[in-house]
Amino acid sequence: MLNSAFRRLNTGSVTDSKTKGMRHMINVIVWNEFRHEKTQEDVKSVYPDGIHGAIKDFLSAEDGLNVTTATLDEPECGLTQEAVDAADVILWWGHGYHNEVPDEIAKRVADAVLRGCGLIVLHSGHMSKPFRALMGTACTLRWRDGDRERVYTVAPHHQIAKGIPDDFEIPSEEMYGERFDIPNPTEVIFMGWFAGGEVFRSGVTFERGYGKIFYFQPGHETNPTYKIPVVQDIIKNAVYWAARTSKRAAADPPGPWASQETER
Ligand code: ZN
Repeated sequence: MLNSAFRRLNTGSVTDSKTKGMRHMINVIVWNEFRHEKTQEDVKSVYPDGIHGAIKDFLSAEDGLNVTTATLDEPECGLTQEAVDAADVILWWGHGYHNEVPDEIAKRVADAVLRGCGLIVLHSGHMSKPFRALMGTACTLRWRDGDRERVYTVAPHHQIAKGIPDDFEIPSEEMYGERFDIPNPTEVIFMGWFAGGEVFRSGVTFERGYGKIFYFQPGHETNPTYKIPVVQDIIKNAVYWAARTSKRAAADPPGPWASQETER
C-alpha cells in the first residue's frame, strides 16, 4: 500500500495538478469539522458558509492558489487518498469531534505531511489526530473563553511574518495559555498575550519528514477572527511558506515513522 502511494506521488501529483499558464498552482485543501456552524446560532451567524467557506474565500483571491474544501461529514471526511496526494497544503480546523475522524484518515494526512505536504493547524485543531500524531505530545493547554488578545510578532524575518505589524489586537478571542504541551518548535513566530495575564506561543513552526507545519492559535468559532485582515494575511503567508516544493514532492519517501506504521 505504501509503495503504491509512493508510486502515485512519484508519477507526479505536481505535474498532474492544475496549472495556470506555465506556473504551478498550489493545491490547498481547507478542512473543517463543520458541525458548530450547523448546530449553534452564535457560530452560524458569524460563519454562515462555515469556517472553511470563510477561509476559502480569502485564499481564493490569490491567483496562485487552487483552493478546495473538505469536511467531516463527507465520505472519507472529504480526504480521499487521491485528494490528499494532490494537496500541497492542508489547513485543519476541528474542535468538538476530533475522535470522529477515523484513524486511517488522520494517518493519511500525517503521512502526506511526511512526504512533503504542508499542514496549517488552526486554533482548536491543536487536539486533532493528525497534529498530535506529528507532534508526539499531548498538545494540551489551558483555556478560558472571551478575552482580549494582543499578538506580538517575535520572528519578523520569517516569511509568515511578512507585512505583519510588530503587534496587533484581537478584540475577543479564546484565551489559550501556557503551558502548551508541544515539542520545542523550529521557530516561534507569534506570541499571544491576553488581558487576563496569560501568554501563549500563538504561531509556531515545525518540520516533520519533508513537510512543514504551522500552528496558529486565533480562530475561536464564535469570533469573527478569520475576517480580520491581518489574520488572513498570516494564513496566506503560511500557505505559501508551507506549500510543498516540487523538489520535495519528488524526493524519496522519508521516515522510519511512516514505514513502521505501515508494516505493523
Ligand atoms: Zn475555541
